Amino acid sequence: MSILGVPVLENRYPVTMDMWPVEHKAFNRIHRFYEHLKEGRLTTTRCKSCSHTAFPPRVICPECLGEDLEWIDLPKEGKVLVFTEQVKGVPLGFQAPLIHAWIDLGPQSPIPRLLSRIINCEAGRLKEGDEVRLVVFEVPSHPIEIKKETITAERVYYAFEPKG
Ligand SMILES: [Zn+2]
Repeated sequence: MSILGVPVLENRYPVTMDMWPVEHKAFNRIHRFYEHLKEGRLTTTRCKSCSHTAFPPRVICPECLGEDLEWIDLPKEGKVLVFTEQVKGVPLGFQAPLIHAWIDLGPQSPIPRLLSRIINCEAGRLKEGDEVRLVVFEVPSHPIEIKKETITAERVYYAFEPKG
């Protein structure tokens, strides 16, 4: 496996360093976020009571503590506002460059910006103002036990990559 979004050690996924959530609905109350990602959609939650939109998605509104939330789509493209690019000393298993960026999602977006990794980008290439788009990639899974049954649930996560 050589997906730039996923840490790999000698072509093996280091399970002991697993940083992604168990996304199966038996364990995760925002499992629909990951199901939407599998459909290529980036989504989050909006409170039906006070209209507050949070990202990452929540199960309780952080403004009014309401629990009646709805799922809304976010733009899948944006522009890099500011970023950091780590080329040395990246965490074990990750490949350099390790890039994190604040991404401006535009005036029509329910949330103005979000923080994301940028993948599929060579060191020194990214610039402020660059256009980026959503990338959904598979994350290795591991067996999990649900009611005495062992399953291997598919997992995905998201990042952004430069357009063109
Ligand atoms: Zn609310």
